[in-house]
Amino acid sequence: MEFTRREFLKVSGATGLGIAFGRFLSPVKVYAQELRIKGAKETPTICPYCGGGCGILVHTVGDKIVYTEGDSNHPINVGRLCTKGACVYQIVDNDKRLTKVLYRAPGSTEWAEKDWNWALKEIAKRIKSTRDANFKATEDGVTVNRTEAIASLGGAALDNEEDYLLSKMSRALGIVYLEHQARI
Ligand code: SF4
Repeated sequence: MEFTRREFLKVSGATGLGIAFGRFLSPVKVYAQELRIKGAKETPTICPYCGGGCGILVHTVGDKIVYTEGDSNHPINVGRLCTKGACVYQIVDNDKRLTKVLYRAPGSTEWAEKDWNWALKEIAKRIKSTRDANFKATEDGVTVNRTEAIASLGGAALDNEEDYLLSKMSRALGIVYLEHQARI
């Protein structure tokens, strides 16, 4: 490909301008980044979205999250995050986030706000009555401590210890259908 003198000057001028801008913008971006986390507290944590367990650094000023990024010292993700992990701050900073218990009674089309005490008692009451009414019996009529009327479904955000407790509690209740969201 051949250039005339005028074309050469045009191309080299534009390239020079591009390089000049590149050199000029890069430190500004770095500076803006520094400004955003200047004075912020850095807290390492683990992404709650899936069992990958990527490391995240959360920068906070007071109780406000100002920046999150992949933890470059974490052995699993070495600083990288998928799109879900990159948007993790939205778990906290989100006006669509549910913070109250909503209950829709059987047959109703409306959701009603309830407090946590009511919800926990109601869940416990229903687990107990369902379990007691559905204990299995052997062929000769002996009731065994097993119910097939309740299932437990774990979520990918649960960690090892939470899964351990959930499966222990389920087995103690006689639940045999233990599943995990990631497997379905
Ligand atoms: S960043 Fe993505 S891959 Fe890593 S744990 Fe979170 S959801 Fe999973």
